[in-house]
Amino acid sequence: MHELSLIESMLAIIREERQKHGMKRILRVRVVNGALSGAVSDSLAFGWECLTQEGDLQGVVLDIVDAPLKVVCGACGKPFVPEDAHYMPCPACGEILGHEIESGKELYIDEIEADIDDNDVADVAAPPTGD
Ligand SMILES: [Zn+2]
Repeated sequence: MHELSLIESMLAIIREERQKHGMKRILRVRVVNGALSGAVSDSLAFGWECLTQEGDLQGVVLDIVDAPLKVVCGACGKPFVPEDAHYMPCPACGEILGHEIESGKELYIDEIEADIDDNDVADVAAPPTGD
């Protein structure tokens, strides 16, 4: 299941972002999964569950947004959303081949929602800043 390694690399990115932005606790992560990304959303969810059962990202909620396939007709240029990724007749001119894929191949982290502890921020009792 290659989704497991996809999740592993996502977790690495999330940890990096957490460090970069000084996030306290990550609550929720939103991932966009295109119809042609090659990753199955159910398998991503399962992989996520396996890899966040314990450790520093335990209990973080994963939201998967399924992004539809969008193409632009290779003959007449009309953008449309095909119902089937294998047979895509253009609704305007009927062309089946040569469409350009506009979106649907993507798989990326869209948003990381983290808890910012207000108490901690307030507790930082203004250390001397040097001015
Ligand atoms: Zn067309």
